[in-house]
Amino acid sequence: MSHIFPRNTRVTLPTAAKGDGCYLIDSTGKRYLDACGGAAVSCLGHSNEKVIEAIKTQLDKFSFAHTGFFGSEPAEELANKLVAQAPTGIDRVYLVSGGSEAMESAVKLVRQYFVEKGEHQRSHMIARWQSYHGNTLGALSAGGNKWRREMFGPLLIEMSHIDPCYTYRYMQEGETEEEYGLRAANLLEDEILRVGPEKVAAFFAEPVVGATMGAVPAVKGYLKRIREICDKYGILLVLDEVMCGMGRTGHIFACNEDEVRPDIVAVAKGIGAGYQPLGAMLCSKEIYDTIAEGSGFFQHGHTYMGHSLAAAAGSAVMDQLTEPGRMEHVRAMGEKLSAALHDEFGQHPYVGDIRGRGLFRALELVSDRGTKAPLDPSFKLHAKVKQNAMKAGLMCYPMGGTVDGKTGDHILLGPPFIIDDSHIAEIVEKLSLAMKESFTQVGV
Ligand code: PLP
Repeated sequence: MSHIFPRNTRVTLPTAAKGDGCYLIDSTGKRYLDACGGAAVSCLGHSNEKVIEAIKTQLDKFSFAHTGFFGSEPAEELANKLVAQAPTGIDRVYLVSGGSEAMESAVKLVRQYFVEKGEHQRSHMIARWQSYHGNTLGALSAGGNKWRREMFGPLLIEMSHIDPCYTYRYMQEGETEEEYGLRAANLLEDEILRVGPEKVAAFFAEPVVGATMGAVPAVKGYLKRIREICDKYGILLVLDEVMCGMGRTGHIFACNEDEVRPDIVAVAKGIGAGYQPLGAMLCSKEIYDTIAEGSGFFQHGHTYMGHSLAAAAGSAVMDQLTEPGRMEHVRAMGEKLSAALHDEFGQHPYVGDIRGRGLFRALELVSDRGTKAPLDPSFKLHAKVKQNAMKAGLMCYPMGGTVDGKTGDHILLGPPFIIDDSHIAEIVEKLSLAMKESFTQVGV
């Protein structure tokens, strides 16, 4: 009898036994092609010798030295490697153990920054609907996924939300992408003016929305306009790259492709690549200096932050992500994956949209391609696809649509960066099989 408290108490899961490159193998020996990196985590696959070696080497030196007592070489090295790749202006790295911790740290840093500047009234934060920023209460307040929020209201920090930049559902007929991007970004200015610019502290966004919408990139120009608006009102721009960062889109920092400079950016998932729980919140020199020259103490922390094994793993991951040709490979394989998805599903009656960047791709499912009406949520099609894909030996990351019908069910793919053409063929073949079986089960 198990004493584990699983997240979903209604399903029985296979037991993971071994990792082998792009595959996970269960205790019965069945192989699963990991086409989603769990949740866009395992960017280097499951048996990366260099990361394993780096952890072992560090383990032989020491494992835990509390950051209240010691600094460490692995943490310094990782911070240097991250800053070297980060957008201009980003200068300091706060190492934590995952994405929610990184985003929670960002929320608290924003508050403390304005308090230290004597601008106590700037406590309001704005984020976007259909976004996900983590499960701790501060991060959940930023998140715009209604079903995740509802049960926990009233949230600690009430934030307001604007519509995301989401071409498939929000771009109007006759509008160019550029016009739409401007219109979508200007919603932020409307919201700032509604709240009162002097009260607004920060705006939060994922450059490419992951779990809640399925690999939805902002159109070109959107984030630049967002930056302009933030600058105009002295508001901090916080980008959440927990899912889309660390090379997932073919750029170490996704926002570098958008040529936008955040004040704070959060990463996790791919930085530890699944070998260690690791996340980081990076911030500008200006923010850091405000704290350093003010109270000198960031009022936030976790026992395991800056853990030496996690930092050593992250450092070895960064070395490999920045190897010559690595990001080119991600972009090239991403294009191939996209082409293969279009070939297989481009005419599918229930696939409304195929989108994404790099090796971060998704299909959005609809009941009617013309009206874009989402599938009946009671079908729980996403859950069926996941189950049938696992039966076929494929891990993908399907999610249900939003309850307000503003996003359909979608299937997110985020395979390891080491995939080749044969893996792409296997992903498409098995996904097609899983989708056929799922649609048959719901009778459409
Ligand atoms: N932010 C984004 C964009 C995410 O996708 C996630 C997780 O899916 C998080 C934050 C939270 O990260 P974690 O699950 O590591 O706490």
